[in-house]
Amino acid sequence: MKNEKKVYEYAIFGGGVVGTAILNKLTRLNKKSILIELGEDVCTGMSKANSAILHAGFDAMPGTLKAKLNVQGKKLLNKLCEELQVPYKNVGAIVVGNDIEQLEILKARGEKNGVPNLEIIEGERLHKLVPNLKRDIKYGLHAPTSSIVNIFMLTIAFAEEAVLNGADYRFSYDTKSIDFDGDIFTISNGKEKIYARHIVNSTSWGYNNIAKLIGVETYPLTYRRGEYYVLDRDAEGYVNLTVFPLPSKLGKGILATPTTDGNILFGPTSEDCESLEPIITTEGLRKIKNGINGMFINPPFNKAIREFAGIRVGSGDDFIIERSKINPRVINLCGINSPGLTAAPAIAEMVCELLQIKEKQEIPMKRREPYGFILDKTSAQLEELVKVDPKFGNIICKCELVSEAEILRAIHSPLKPHTVDGIKRRVRPTAGHCQGGSCLLKVAEIISRELNIPLNEIIKETSQGYVFDNKNLKKTKKYSILKTKPELNIEL
Ligand SMILES: Cc1cc2nc3c(=O)[nH]c(=O)nc-3n(C[C@H](O)[C@H](O)[C@H](O)COP(=O)(O)OP(=O)(O)OC[C@H]3O[C@@H](n4cnc5c(N)ncnc54)[C@H](O)[C@@H]3O)c2cc1C
Repeated sequence: MKNEKKVYEYAIFGGGVVGTAILNKLTRLNKKSILIELGEDVCTGMSKANSAILHAGFDAMPGTLKAKLNVQGKKLLNKLCEELQVPYKNVGAIVVGNDIEQLEILKARGEKNGVPNLEIIEGERLHKLVPNLKRDIKYGLHAPTSSIVNIFMLTIAFAEEAVLNGADYRFSYDTKSIDFDGDIFTISNGKEKIYARHIVNSTSWGYNNIAKLIGVETYPLTYRRGEYYVLDRDAEGYVNLTVFPLPSKLGKGILATPTTDGNILFGPTSEDCESLEPIITTEGLRKIKNGINGMFINPPFNKAIREFAGIRVGSGDDFIIERSKINPRVINLCGINSPGLTAAPAIAEMVCELLQIKEKQEIPMKRREPYGFILDKTSAQLEELVKVDPKFGNIICKCELVSEAEILRAIHSPLKPHTVDGIKRRVRPTAGHCQGGSCLLKVAEIISRELNIPLNEIIKETSQGYVFDNKNLKKTKKYSILKTKPELNIEL
């Protein structure tokens, strides 16, 4: 029998929050699609390093795609986070300052964008809402509809649900050529060919590489670095909502926000840069300190456990979301920087319209299982779990209380992550106080054992970074987590 080649209706390049939201939407509309990602996992680009705020939508200029898709995306995400069982919290946001005229302008802008319940507050109300705010700050524009989300889980959940319902994916797929015969694109990395009738280019920094291979529109890209401090969960409660200063030409400013995991973020800076390297600079960290010290009383910088940086990839002032004029089978997504996370599901809907997909009715979807952390369990629930599976009692990450059972659940989840950071983004080992000092090697060993990958080939995050070098491997060869006796050794 002749071997029929598999032709996808849609190939989506880029497994960030936007690409996975599109994959998810297309799958819900029963369209056979494939996600093609250059990295080792989803959520390794801009989507992994941001403030994780679902913006209410008062910042973007009325009439722009950013404004429209921000407000639409926020509404869609309230429902999607429930359906996908992604952690999010409606904490609200406030822009604080003494320039009431600027706050009024922001409020009017938000109202024009369709943001509900915006209010300028002052005095005791303001300081009750933000107890650690400096007393000389007089006003705040309160946006109660702003939320925070676990951005890793959102991206993973979009993709997991799609894969559970029939979508395909490839990681580490480095596209070398894309040919079009008038009906079907042949995509090749030199080893495997993928066939598709339409292409969605959602690769942020990689946009022009893919556009050039297809032969469609290219755009100049700009890069702007944002550095952050992450505070330990010990500092939880220092800020309970997202607090922004008044915005400037460089963006929304250095903010303080809780995360859904109980940490606090201080940042981001806003520095134009040439390279994609997310470096941390002393100058950047100083700017964060100055910004936060200018708004808050005694900010707990001594609780900082980590710094990180994300690169905002832009092209002009607004998102570019279009059907290519050169090849109408291609959708170009370029310059999807902030508020791209919030806008992601609305971008997905817009892409479906541009693709002229007639169906509106979503098919019933198999729902994904959430990861179910032991931290959320009572002692009694945990004892029951350990009786069923003793690996719940084998605590691998002591800072975040992550058991071997949860790590196994992540390794064998629908996208089969094989990097230490892939496991971290799903169930948090190495994300705590010691930043992997005590558990990174154990996580690498479990991945190695479960996926049958030699230990010296276990990747931290990208194929450029292995957990072990050969010298270290010799030292740690005898080390085995299997010798750890499973026991319930946690206090809740
Ligand atoms: C500092 C900072 C703070 C931010 N804060 C917020 C916020 O609080 N709220 C908000 O709404 N937005 C925020 N944003 C914006 C938000 O993070 C982005 O808009 C969003 O993550 C963009 O998602 P994406 O999928 O388009 O891009 P990415 O996440 O970058 O995904 C693109 C993917 O394409 C892949 N790729 C590249 N080249 C290729 C190729 N040749 N083949 C296949 N795949 C390829 C990359 O590996 C990557 O995984 C912030 C951004 C930054 C940098």
